[in-house]
Formats: sequence, C-alpha cells, structure tokens
Amino acid sequence: MQVNALEYLERTAERLPGKTFLVDASGSRSFAQVRQEARRLAARLVAAGARPGRPVAVLVPRSSDAVVAFLASLYAGGFYVPLDAKAPAARTRRIVASLGDAVVVSTPGLDGLATAVAGACPLVSVDDARGEAPAPDLAALDARVARTIDTDPIYTMFTSGSTGTPKGVVIPHRGVLDYVDWVVDTFSVDERTVIGAQAPLFFDNSTLDLWAAIAAGATLDLIPDAIFSFPIRLLEHLAEKKVTLVFWVPSVLTHVASAGVLDRVPLPDLRDVLFAGEVLATRVLNHWRKRLPRARFANLYGPTEITVDCTCFIVDRELEDEEPIPIGLPCRNTDVLVLSNEGRRTDDGEVGELCVRGSSLALGYWRDAERTAAAFVPNPLNPDYPERIYRTGDLVRRNARGELVFVGRRDSQIKHLGYRIELGEIEAAIRALPDVEDACVFYDAGAARIEAAYVAASPRAAGDLRRALTDSLPRYMLPSTWHRLEALPRTPNGKVDRERVRSMAGERADGPERESAAPPGERERRDPITGTAEDGCRDR
Ligand code: AMP
Repeated sequence: MQVNALEYLERTAERLPGKTFLVDASGSRSFAQVRQEARRLAARLVAAGARPGRPVAVLVPRSSDAVVAFLASLYAGGFYVPLDAKAPAARTRRIVASLGDAVVVSTPGLDGLATAVAGACPLVSVDDARGEAPAPDLAALDARVARTIDTDPIYTMFTSGSTGTPKGVVIPHRGVLDYVDWVVDTFSVDERTVIGAQAPLFFDNSTLDLWAAIAAGATLDLIPDAIFSFPIRLLEHLAEKKVTLVFWVPSVLTHVASAGVLDRVPLPDLRDVLFAGEVLATRVLNHWRKRLPRARFANLYGPTEITVDCTCFIVDRELEDEEPIPIGLPCRNTDVLVLSNEGRRTDDGEVGELCVRGSSLALGYWRDAERTAAAFVPNPLNPDYPERIYRTGDLVRRNARGELVFVGRRDSQIKHLGYRIELGEIEAAIRALPDVEDACVFYDAGAARIEAAYVAASPRAAGDLRRALTDSLPRYMLPSTWHRLEALPRTPNGKVDRERVRSMAGERADGPERESAAPPGERERRDPITGTAEDGCRDR
C-alpha cells in the first residue's frame, strides 16, 4: 500500500531515469537528476534543522528549482509550504512566523526578501545542493521517509482569509494519492503526456500538474509566466513543446479565446483541456471546442481544502452558450452532499451548500482550531459515528441529469483572475491604513473589478490608497475603484450591508468621490498569472 507520495518519484526514477521530467526557462531535468538534487537538498535541510513532520517554507520563484525544494522537504521527512515570491514581504513574513519552527529554502536572486521573511528560521539556498555538495546520507533520509504515514502533511497552502490573516490548508499524503491516482486513470496520463503548466506553485491546481507528472512519468513543462500575456506565443509554445494536456484557470482560456488566436496556430498534440478554479463561460468553451474538435474538455471543481478537485464534468455533449457548464459528478472515492440551511439533503433542483466527505479532506487549517471547527463539521446526516465533512461555502443544484451545477457563494469569497480572495482580507488591510475608519469591498464580476468603499474624514487619492496597500496585499488583490462614503450602511443585525454599499457606490459612480486608480486598460489586461499589468496580444 502506498502511503507517501514520494514513492511515485522513487518508482518513476527507477523505471524512467533518463526521461525528461521538468522543463523550465533554464532547461530540462530528468527524473533521476531531480531525485538526486532533491536528496542532496534534503540533506542540507536536515543539517539546517528540518525535523520530521515539520514545515519547510519554499520561497523560490516558479521553476524546476522550486519543485526540487518541494521534493527535498519530503525527503527530509517534512512537508512543503509554497510561498508567493511576488507577495508583499510583510504578508509572507506573517505566514512564515505562523509556521513556527520552519526551515526556509530560497534562491540567491531573492536573498534580501528571504532574509526578511525568514526571521529567526534557518535559511537554506537551493544552490547548496548543486556542484560540490557532499553526497547525502541516503540511509538516514530513507529512514525519515519510511516514518511518514499517509495522514502526515505533504503540503500546506495558504489561501486568503476573511479576517485578514491567510489560512494555511494542511493536506495529507493520502489526499494527494487519492486525487492523483484518479487523475492519472481518468485522463490516461502516461510517459507520453506533456503537461503545459500554468498554475502558480502556491495554488493547488499545480498539484495535478506536478504529481500526475511524477506518478505517470510525464513531462512537466513549467510555461514561463511572461508567455501567458501573449496568446500567440503561448500557443506557439504549446505547439513547439508538443503539449498534450493543460489544466488552466478559466481566465487564461478566456484570454486566449478573446484574442482570437486559436485559428492561427494548429495544436495537433493537445488532447486534454482541463480547467478549474472559477466559472468558465460556455461561450468560451464552445469557441475552444470548435477549434480543437478532437480534444477532451473537462470542468473540474474543488476548493484547496479537499485536495484540488472533488467533482468533474467531462464535456460529453453540445452545450448552448447560455447553459452553464456543470461541475459534474464526484471524483472516485469522494462523496458530496448538497445540504439545505437546516442540514437536510436538498431535493433535485433545489439550491444547497456543497459539502464533501472522503479521504481527500484536509487535516484542517494550520494553527487555527476555530476556523477548522467552523468549516470541517460533523456530518449532520450521520448520527451513528463521528464523521467529518467539509463545508465548501459553494451553492449548487442538481440539473435534470443529476449533474451538479455551480450557482454561487454563500459568503464574500470571490475568484478574480483565477485567484481565490476573501474580500474581508482586503477590508482588514484598508481599515489598517491611517485615517481610514471603515471599509467595505465588493466585486463587479461582469467587469472583473474589485471596488472599495471607505469611510475617512477627508478624501484620499485612489493611487495613494492603492500604493499604501502594496505593503500588505498582493497586487491582484488591490481594488481598482474607490468610493468615499459618509458611513457604511448596516443590516438590522449590525453587519455591513454589502449590497446596499454596492448600490450607494453605483449611485455615486460619476460623482467626485469615486476614483479609479488602475492605469487605463489594466483591469482588462491584468496578467492572469502574475497579477501584473500587461498589454495584451502584442506579439503580432
Ligand atoms: P481554490 O481553493 O483556490 O481552489 O478555490 C476554490 C473555490 O473556487 C471553490 O470553492 C469555488 O468557489 C471556486 N471554483 C473552483 N472550481 C470551480 C469551477 N469549476 N466552477 C466554479 N467555481 C469553481
């Protein structure tokens, strides 16, 4: 019985040692090479104090080196915590501080940032495992790996948190084993598969890319972030690398479709187009399907807390542009419950909250018993023994075919350019600004725009407000439009009335108290991967 995801690497490195595993801007590395580098780095981590079952924070830009660091943390008996090297230092420092006794791995290019975020934690460079690095004590590493059990963490990923503090979702090995075996079987991933990866490594969609490649001996092409700004270059890259499978967020598929470039670059190798993370417009899906009639398309759905995805819809029929793309049926070894507010099973067609049970559930949130207890609750339908389910906060219904259809959220979590964002985290950061008394943030999904209403004695320039927030929030979380209000309207139970704020802001839309801070066109042309401004399909 497999208990540790590293066994995938061990098996594949034995079976296909020379096969290309990782490709990035610096070149390619085989399975055997990656295993060797990961073990060397693991030995460095152990020497620096990494302990079994403890976190290794990885502050390395998206690259093969980052993957080596993840694997090294597992060889050291610990688990990896991918960090966003582009996030503000203060936010990353808070995450690392919350980890306690972590070891931090970084890369020479990020020395200043790494020292700032590591604090008192030991710092190791990925470069330490190269060149003259001494050979690791393999027996000692093997002993650590052998002690790992399938309920031990494999990674912790931090997502936006509504109270202003990011939440660390702790995923065990068994979640990844369960998910990856399903992916490999369902999409026939094997050593001929070339995965064209888009997901940032701190976003859990990357788990499919990385672990399906390792398990099946596929090649993982980490497409450079910058290429996603240029749709033709992106497609040429897929063609040149003979990419067969992509798993991208809908905003990237939409960007390519609206650039109208699929007719210009043939993609005969691309067989699987998987997407997840937010709603994809059916019109966009139809655009892609028309141009790639032989490819298989699949809408995957799931929050980080249930290990990437828990339902899947393989597009098996024509869908009208106006019809939603279902999120489908549960993945293997996963069960979903659609519950009413009262905790009863909903009737067909009735909207309820999607709840998940199974081996894929996260262990909980890192050092946050309260939020863990609120989201991972006893199954109200099981009076017989304790059983945990995860409440996703997503509202769904079943269609006439019994497939699940995503309807919306029950809270103020949004998806913007593929990023999961709690509006509460932005509000907390705005409220922390000097002279700001209160704040409410809302999302205009049609325009893909984050808007903020704030209460302050005197108006503040929108550009200043945005700049002030860059110390605490990643760029993709910065509101682009600002409204100053006298006071925030409240509901009878005292909560901020977000809908009323939205309409008050709309009424003032042309007034002097509204200001847009994003440079012209930035909102439409924000790079979906990096969150930085870009200028569209400049490539031709
Ligand atoms: P994350 O934890 O970043 O993967 O975000 C999870 C959230 O993204 C879910 O709870 C949903 O709100 C949304 N989501 C993920 N996949 C889909 C999908 N296929 N369709 C609609 N929303 C999705």
